[in-house]
Amino acid sequence: MTERKPIESWLTDMDGVLMHEGIPVPGADAFIAKLRDSGRPFLVLTNNSIYTARDLNARLSRIGLDVPAENIWTSALATAKFLDTQHPGGSAYVIGEAGLTTALHEVGYILTDADPDFVILGETRTYSFEAMTKAVRLINNGARFIATNPDETGPSAEGALPATGAVAALITKATGKEPYFVGKPNPLMMRTGLNAIGAHSESSAMIGDRMDTDILAGLEAGMETFLVLTGLTAPADIGKFPYRPTHVKDSIADLVEYI
Ligand SMILES: [Mg+2]
Repeated sequence: MTERKPIESWLTDMDGVLMHEGIPVPGADAFIAKLRDSGRPFLVLTNNSIYTARDLNARLSRIGLDVPAENIWTSALATAKFLDTQHPGGSAYVIGEAGLTTALHEVGYILTDADPDFVILGETRTYSFEAMTKAVRLINNGARFIATNPDETGPSAEGALPATGAVAALITKATGKEPYFVGKPNPLMMRTGLNAIGAHSESSAMIGDRMDTDILAGLEAGMETFLVLTGLTAPADIGKFPYRPTHVKDSIADLVEYI
């Protein structure tokens, strides 16, 4: 059994770990404060591509969680990083919000519906039939299909919302083309995040509330993993998966001592 290196840097999921249905999880503020004081590299991750890091910084700060924008890593930022590596200075037709369009502009992408290199699908609350029709035709004409995250639904106080994965399925049905999904559980989301903060997987930990996204992605990226039970996973669910987190904790409050 190989000894893991001490944890030098932390990646944590946001929903279900730091907050749940808009309410901060008790202890999340203390965890973030201790991380910031420690000077260790860290990132708060979200598959949601609607918001920019600055938007999320403001939204978190309203509920008492002080996470600097540079410590926030969204699937939109990971997608922009991925495209910048794959095809620098390319063009894209985008269905999405400011979180995605801003990230793409920042890596020098041109957003256009005239013969783009990529069609990029992200999260939005206003999916238009016209935009989806355009996406389908551009993909049929050879644009490569990328989606920020595979989540089929998202949470809201009123119930489930159809999310990027569900809309991607519609476009796949219409084109016969599967997208490449960048967000969790693709370990690319962790790797690009680790690179952004200069961290290494063998001395990093991933905290999450979902076995099939957070824990799987952390495991596949070679990180130590912590499952917390304040979100979507109940203790009885853990055994249903063929892999295990390194640690299972009741909540983020139990992780303060690890920093
Ligand atoms: Mg979560």
